Amino acid sequence: MLTIGCHLSTAKGYTAMGETACSIGANTFAFFTRNPRGGNARALDRSDVDGLRRIMAENSFGPLVAHAPYTYNPCSAKESARAFALEAMREDLERLEALPGQYYNFHPGCHVGQGAERGVELIVETLLQVMWPEQRTCVLLETMAGKGTEMGRSFEEIAEVIARVGEKRPELADKLGVCLDTCHVHDGGYDVVADLDGVLGEFDRAVGLGRLRAVHLNDSKNPRGAHKDRHEVIGAGYLGSEELGGGLKVFSRIVRHPALSGLPFILETPNELDGYAREIKLLRELAEA
Ligand code: FE
Ligand code: FE
Ligand code: ZN
Repeated sequence: MLTIGCHLSTAKGYTAMGETACSIGANTFAFFTRNPRGGNARALDRSDVDGLRRIMAENSFGPLVAHAPYTYNPCSAKESARAFALEAMREDLERLEALPGQYYNFHPGCHVGQGAERGVELIVETLLQVMWPEQRTCVLLETMAGKGTEMGRSFEEIAEVIARVGEKRPELADKLGVCLDTCHVHDGGYDVVADLDGVLGEFDRAVGLGRLRAVHLNDSKNPRGAHKDRHEVIGAGYLGSEELGGGLKVFSRIVRHPALSGLPFILETPNELDGYAREIKLLRELAEA
């Protein structure tokens, strides 16, 4: 059975997210580890977390994919911004140990004119300081569209970060992975419409498919290579619409691809809950057809 869900609001707590997920046919979900505008994360309520654990067990959920706020920039040129990202990521990871998990996905950040090489160095430094060998949560770098000076625009850039962390601290190597965002890689120039096998082959050569732990399932409002990062609902954009893209068979290939089988698929499409429920149903049908 496909493991699929969408991004949910944490406003009503963890049990409520589990209930909402079930109500829309999801068996995973994503959520922000804290308010994207910063500020402190709420203290954990044990019974609320236990409620989610129970729901997940009873409904055979797959792993959850927690998302770091977009406001973290671990490779900023400003020391204060880097310090904030570092402190917040460390706290997020500590808190996630008490939650059923097991993924923490983050945007590698923007090098803001310092160059990609410096960007890689700063991201590596951050990861070396926020991770520890016994942590249960796996940290996922998200593939990005390459808007502005965004890092993570190529599989090679992501591979470089993972390799360098592994060289410095081999004991952290298996706690690092990748979350592949279909809108972002398409906007970044990878041809998931016509050549999904080719794209995943490239990923395998650069990073290794074993590192791929989650997929963000989004259509795109822009043509391939636009470096824009604007998500569209499934089937209405340059991936899955008949007019602009390759039609729904593009998403059918994604959810049925053997290299992606068993991974959590997270929708981040512009939808309310009823829209997510429809997309989850559609994608389950595509996966089983
Ligand atoms: Fe993201
Ligand atoms: Fe994403
Ligand atoms: Zn995006």
